[in-house]
Amino acid sequence: MHDKTLAELARGLAAGDFSSRELTASLLERIQRVDPSLNSFITVTGEQALEEADTADDLRQKGQAGALGGLPLAYKDIFCTEGVRTSAGSKMLDNFIAPYNATVVEKLRHAGTISLGKTNMDEFAMGSSNENSYYGPVKNPWNSTLVPGGSSGGSAAAVAAGLVPAALGTDTGGSIRQPAAFCGITGLKPTYGRISRYGMIAYASSLDQAGPMARTAEDCAMLMNAMAGHDSRDSTSVARNVPDYTQDLDKPLNGLKVGLPVEYFGDGLAPEVETAIREAVKVYESLGARIIDVSLPHTRLAIPAYYVIAPAEASSNLSRYDGVRFGHRCDNPIDLEDLYKRTRAEGFGDEVKRRILIGTHTLSEGFFDAYYRKAQQVRRLIRQDFLDAFSHVDVLMGPAAPTTAFELGSRADPVQMYLQDIYTIAINLAGIPGISVPAGLVDNRPVGLQILGPHFGEAHLLNVAHVYQQATDWHQRRPEIKE
Ligand code: GLN
Repeated sequence: MHDKTLAELARGLAAGDFSSRELTASLLERIQRVDPSLNSFITVTGEQALEEADTADDLRQKGQAGALGGLPLAYKDIFCTEGVRTSAGSKMLDNFIAPYNATVVEKLRHAGTISLGKTNMDEFAMGSSNENSYYGPVKNPWNSTLVPGGSSGGSAAAVAAGLVPAALGTDTGGSIRQPAAFCGITGLKPTYGRISRYGMIAYASSLDQAGPMARTAEDCAMLMNAMAGHDSRDSTSVARNVPDYTQDLDKPLNGLKVGLPVEYFGDGLAPEVETAIREAVKVYESLGARIIDVSLPHTRLAIPAYYVIAPAEASSNLSRYDGVRFGHRCDNPIDLEDLYKRTRAEGFGDEVKRRILIGTHTLSEGFFDAYYRKAQQVRRLIRQDFLDAFSHVDVLMGPAAPTTAFELGSRADPVQMYLQDIYTIAINLAGIPGISVPAGLVDNRPVGLQILGPHFGEAHLLNVAHVYQQATDWHQRRPEIKE
């Protein structure tokens, strides 16, 4: 059962081939066997999952199961889950039991899904390798010496290893797409505002967005149907109709205009990744697409702009961890200042501290105009690049990351790590949707094809990805897992 997609499992449940309890129990057992060597879960909620499965089976008996009824999922440990530890990968929140569910968690519960637990992640979603977690790094299921990507590395690894058919991630600068690429699964970052951020622990609020990570575009579409929509508790969620994302998956791609940004095929792109991506583009040509070279001239400014804006917002968001209200508190503080200083010194890891320092600096008097305001102006130009491109092409394609998964410990220099995000970060700055789709294997390391579309174009992106998955089998390749 661990090899199946959500759609296949949904059919199996509907046909009565197995119950949700049987499915859930078999995945929990697999997690127990396989995860000690992967470390993709921080918390497994086995008992609760089995109870939820029984409820789902009862509903099905009564003929009340929806499209997602009885299907198991996992949540990146950044989504608040009532009564369950929600750590954000940080010592700061190691003792934090969320008192409520995030809106997406609530919606997926109502849709009848089962939560198997919470997946590992870079601390407060800061990172591209999952090495910044308080709970230790996650191993890539394709090769245990490699990183799974980050920051949603636990979700990506768990899906790739067949521990759970789908998981949720969040993407502030690539954290769904890059780990999806490194682990050979499909991951969608929706348009900013498409999904409620309520109950999602904030990193950089103008960039953060939740999204599905699964084997196929079809599975992502099924999840989007339950996840998307306006939420009165998140003022940045957009009041706009939610389409049925599964409806147009099979629409033919005849005449599709595909733009290839020249900046996404330049220096720094590993030749073997480029070869795989160009092969994928050829598949689209054979499906009737027209390929057009385009330019996104401000691409090289995306990393510098992001690494001013994201730390600035993070420094503000993370000021709430003060040892007073929730989370870690240092022992025996002598006064308030000592409480703040030691709590934060003990609770945060190095990368988080680095971002808080950078963010506090760029927001401080005298530097705000030079850094933060400037970065916002650059952000506008980057967004305009995409709007211009989408005035003459339907989608853009390129690599999700400049390399395949790299060795654990090989990117000790933070700037080297930040350069990983070159193809993903601009998308968050512009607020547009992007999906990464398995598109090759190089030395048994997956390559991800990134497809980008205009604001609220995720239904079309899913269609473009799905038709490719009907013509190729990269998404069906599985890592060999030692059990
Ligand atoms: N790697 C980027 C960062 O460290 C993006 C992370 C993310 O999308 N959450 O900020």
